[in-house]
Amino acid sequence: MSELRQDPVTRDWVIINPERASRPHDAPGAAPAGCPFCPGNESRTPDAVETLAGPDGRWLVRAVPNRYPVLRSQPAAAGDGAPAPADPLWRRLAAYGHHEVIVETPDHGAPLGRMPREQARRVLEMYVRRARALAAGDGVLRQIVLFRNHGARAGTSLVHPHSQIVATPAVAPETRRRVMDEIAFYDETGCCAMCRTVARERAAGTRIVLETARFATIAPYASRAPYHLQVVPLRHAPAFPEIEAAELDDLAGHLTRVLGALGARLGDPHYNLVVSSPPLDLVHRAASYWFVEILPRLTTPAGFELGSRIVVNVQPPERAAAELRAALGAAAAPAGGI
Ligand SMILES: [Zn+2]
Ligand SMILES: [Zn+2]
Repeated sequence: MSELRQDPVTRDWVIINPERASRPHDAPGAAPAGCPFCPGNESRTPDAVETLAGPDGRWLVRAVPNRYPVLRSQPAAAGDGAPAPADPLWRRLAAYGHHEVIVETPDHGAPLGRMPREQARRVLEMYVRRARALAAGDGVLRQIVLFRNHGARAGTSLVHPHSQIVATPAVAPETRRRVMDEIAFYDETGCCAMCRTVARERAAGTRIVLETARFATIAPYASRAPYHLQVVPLRHAPAFPEIEAAELDDLAGHLTRVLGALGARLGDPHYNLVVSSPPLDLVHRAASYWFVEILPRLTTPAGFELGSRIVVNVQPPERAAAELRAALGAAAAPAGGI
């Protein structure tokens, strides 16, 4: 029995999915021989839905259905996919959707922050291919969530570098709030909130970590965690699936450098990376925007934060940005970096 349920007061959706409890976890120090994502073990995952291969025909990036999906592409039981009878208090949806894993590299030990720029470009290429494929869906799916978890504190159950993509029939609570806030900001000011923020941050400079031809990384003014970062397109860009080839090129090097700087400063921190993009059917062309959010998991939210949703961040973002700029400067290669 898996389904989405909506809180009757907050309208936030929750996925109830007991099957996820049985998914495998790497034992600490597990050898690559037992890794389902390493070359030679392809039979241990479902068949790939899409592959990027090198000249020798070997895969370099694979997208495969998740064996333990949070939402199922096919309803499991007869009638499970049927619309539920309307109940004004306890609304539910069948747990229909898609959940894919993007195996980022054949190399078990080379996560996104340490892989060559060309490989990072392939990973992002697969992000956009799968996002576009799922966005073209069936009129039921409303949101695509692209993310990667790095380290146990970020929720990784397998070590081999991988990202995930989930397509959901409900809009995530965080996304719903964000969309409303973006539109409200636009209605009040006539500006996109992110474009205005980026312009101010570029003028101020203190919270800019890195700027390349098409992206800027910012430690947000009200950062929610130490080293909380946002990687933002420099042009107004409403939705991630619309990303252009030149932006993918720039983002590959940009992300590799930023994650490399985080690693240099913090020594392989656990983090979550999320591509934040509006719901498929709620893109406000002038007010919506996409960006990449990176949240290192250095601290654990406690009762006050869980109860109040007020975060206590022990590190000013200005200090985080200065430290990461220094790390980037130290890492810069003679040829101009990665
Ligand atoms: Zn592996
Ligand atoms: Zn904008």
